[in-house]
Amino acid sequence: TSAAATAEKATGVSLRAVTKKYGPVVAVQDISIDVAAGTYCCLLGPSGCGKTTTLRMIAGHEEITYGDVFIGGRRVNALPPVKRDTAMVFQSYALFPHKTVWDNVDFGLKMQRLDRQARRQRVGEILDIVGLSDFAQRKPDNLSGGQQQRVALARALVTRPQVLLLDEPLSALDETLRVRTRGELRRLQKQFGLTFIQVTHAQDEAFSLSDQIVVMGDGHVDQVGTPQRIFNRPASRFVANFMGDNNLFEGNVTQVEADGEVAIAQLEVPQLGKFTCQAEVAPDVGMEAAFCIRADRMQVTRRGELPEQTTNHLSARITAIEFTGYITRVALLAEATGQELLYKARTQDWLARDLQEGQVVELYWTTEAANFLSH
Ligand code: ATP
Repeated sequence: TSAAATAEKATGVSLRAVTKKYGPVVAVQDISIDVAAGTYCCLLGPSGCGKTTTLRMIAGHEEITYGDVFIGGRRVNALPPVKRDTAMVFQSYALFPHKTVWDNVDFGLKMQRLDRQARRQRVGEILDIVGLSDFAQRKPDNLSGGQQQRVALARALVTRPQVLLLDEPLSALDETLRVRTRGELRRLQKQFGLTFIQVTHAQDEAFSLSDQIVVMGDGHVDQVGTPQRIFNRPASRFVANFMGDNNLFEGNVTQVEADGEVAIAQLEVPQLGKFTCQAEVAPDVGMEAAFCIRADRMQVTRRGELPEQTTNHLSARITAIEFTGYITRVALLAEATGQELLYKARTQDWLARDLQEGQVVELYWTTEAANFLSH
């Protein structure tokens, strides 16, 4: 069957008001998620936020306390894992150490009681796809981490699940292999047209793999969006902080204007003055809120050299300059408040500026670059 035909059959996943309690501990609270058929979705968040619990509820390895899980439109709450059309790839790979690669992959098909002929063909096919045909007779112990990972993947894919669930599948790999395997995962997902849902705490992984990212914090869903959207338009203080390299300013909304698709909000920040930022939904005047400006979206200049008509700017003192290669990271303190700030420049541009530690500079940015945070 062609990839397109497979994609048509692919199955989406929906969670409706799902809660998981372990006794008094609420691991996941009232989350609703829609993962469209044939897409790659990452559940991204810090340790303990409920990602794995969510994945295990989709797989059927964990009972749902309240709410519903649908796979391909079918409510699966009461179905055991094998009847859900899903397969799971574990962080530890969970391979059988005494079985060969071939037998590891064959195992799931035996469970499905496929005949010998069909099994032979399917195992051979999938080992070929993941590039392990030459390793079929080896035991897992005699494989590299990346190869073991591919066996785990092959074993999950060979049963032809509609949904593949992956729990930190790359975390045991070193950096180089992690990046390469990431590409392979994406390629396989596209090739099979399957729905992939992956748990990760690594931002770069979520960015490079996903069609959709679900950012989770403390048992709830904080934001859902494309990687670009999550990166450029974090919706909350939590997401802005989790993405890192964001400067946050707390203030009160003093003015709101509609500007086509978006709103422009003006916030007054105590002692620093008024700033404008872009908001997806127009906030109420008077409300307490925050905005963020990413470290690489600011510009820097000497005092008295601000371009005319710059609405968003502040004075800050340089406290540290860190060369990291392509990028130079500059730590500063706002003159008026002492707030710590971060500015990032291309090293080449930074060196051309000839600025030193201890110097007071002006940081400035456009309205479009600053992003309103409602919660
Ligand atoms: P990590 O990335 O560290 O695996 P996570 O985001 O996957 O974290 P979960 O493993 O889903 O988080 O855990 C969510 C919360 O539920 C945590 O506070 C955890 O301590 C708690 N929890 C998980 N499993 C159990 C359990 N069997 N009994 C009690 N509490 C649990």
